[in-house]
Amino acid sequence: MSSFDYCIGVLESLKLKGIATNLDNTINKATTEKISHLDFLKDLLVSEVNFRNERRLQRNLAGAHFPVVKNLESFDFYRILRISGEQINNLQDFRWIDQHENLMFFGPPGLGKTHLSIALGLKAIEAGYSVCFERISTLIKLLKTMEIQRSSSFRINRIMKSSLLIIDEIGYTPIDRKEANLFFNLISELYERSSVIITSNKGFDQWSEMMGDEIMTTAMLDRLLHHAHVFSLEGDSYRIQEKMEV
Ligand code: ADP
Ligand code: MG
Repeated sequence: MSSFDYCIGVLESLKLKGIATNLDNTINKATTEKISHLDFLKDLLVSEVNFRNERRLQRNLAGAHFPVVKNLESFDFYRILRISGEQINNLQDFRWIDQHENLMFFGPPGLGKTHLSIALGLKAIEAGYSVCFERISTLIKLLKTMEIQRSSSFRINRIMKSSLLIIDEIGYTPIDRKEANLFFNLISELYERSSVIITSNKGFDQWSEMMGDEIMTTAMLDRLLHHAHVFSLEGDSYRIQEKMEV
């Protein structure tokens, strides 16, 4: 067996796939550019670090369960009132995640609440944070079945461990008392431990009606709003505006 094949075998058994993949290139580069031994080693280590970072990014992206990919570059801030590109840019330092603060996007359908949440979630993943996305209806289903279904408890565990949970579409479907209680417990567990982004088409004043329990809703909003950036979007639905422009 050649030394090269031996090295590849050992690298693979040590799970150093980044180095294994780049060994050939790095040797060629070292030969043509007369790179020192130390820099050769450094190049190999950099390829392993890059490989692992890329794999972690892909794993976090897949684990986030984004329904579609949206980015901030394609978001037109002129279309909506009460939120500026600068405000969203400032959020990209992710100090709010480090400090376990929440973001709340309120407003009627079609104003880009889901778009902004996904785009910020993606940027957070790129910055190294773990993110989970769920519609409230799915989240409640997971909470209701976590005792009896492994896939649900697995997902809830991931949600509990992530640095950011995005809960989309609160307000579209009614929530009964038992469900609201499960949701309240989740929010309490996450409080001051991780960040939450919430999108809702219903204002705070309508939340108790939606959840059927005023005291619990107040307690939940108290936790959500304690450290929160609230954005109440106004404007015309992007979906409708787009149709009218055609
Ligand atoms: P909401 O969650 O507020 O109902 P969405 O985020 O689902 O709205 O937006 C509806 C559609 O319009 C999506 O395809 C989204 O990408 C697009 N959209 C909404 N607002 C904007 C905007 N300001 N700039 C670009 N695309 C937008
Ligand atoms: Mg939406």
